[in-house]
Amino acid sequence: MITKLEGIILNETPYGETSKIINVLTREKGIVGIMCKGAKSMKNSLRALTMPLTYGYFYIYYKEDKLSTLKDVDLINSFNNIKQDILLIAYANYLTELTHQITKMEFDENIYELFINSLIKIDSNIDPLIITNIVELQYLKYLGIELNLNECVNCGSTKNIITLDGDIGGFICNKCYTNEKMVSLKAIKLIRMYNAVDIKSISSININDNSKYEINYFLNRYYDRYTGLYLKSKKFLEDLNKLS
Ligand SMILES: [Zn+2]
Repeated sequence: MITKLEGIILNETPYGETSKIINVLTREKGIVGIMCKGAKSMKNSLRALTMPLTYGYFYIYYKEDKLSTLKDVDLINSFNNIKQDILLIAYANYLTELTHQITKMEFDENIYELFINSLIKIDSNIDPLIITNIVELQYLKYLGIELNLNECVNCGSTKNIITLDGDIGGFICNKCYTNEKMVSLKAIKLIRMYNAVDIKSISSININDNSKYEINYFLNRYYDRYTGLYLKSKKFLEDLNKLS
């Protein structure tokens, strides 16, 4: 019996002379490993449809806990804009690797939604750094390290918040402040917005460079300190950003 799953290809591994195995993040079942027989050969019609970042409907012979077998793919989006720009590819690769790491630990349909919609927005020319930071922020709860963006982490006050402390993961009010690193009030306001926004609904977004980089800097430090993830794609993205 053929099963239809909506998903996106995270990566591929060659198998033998002509075949490959793809890992697909699916809406219905999380990560599914699929054998694609003959898909490496030039004349195979599934060759182009079994590349990473292919988003579509996958028709497969589904086997639980084993490799499934690919029958056909119906393309939804191949993210052609992303594929023409090395920087956008780097962002997409980083989001793919990050999403893969998180879904290996736990799968939630919201993670799938966030990932797909972030790629759709980056592909339609919305600022990739802002989109990536929104995803990083909204992924924190699945990593078990959500920021407390409601109150001072020390006394619980919701008033006179003066900074966001990355070391303890929440707000500090002016009474409790000692010598924590400062995050500007403008950035704090934007971080709250990033945390609450539905990516799907973003049609344009404009944030000044200072605030944008301040938020990115904060999130980078927070990820380094608390996630334990070291992703090559992130390092590559950072190197590329330094060049431009
Ligand atoms: Zn306080």
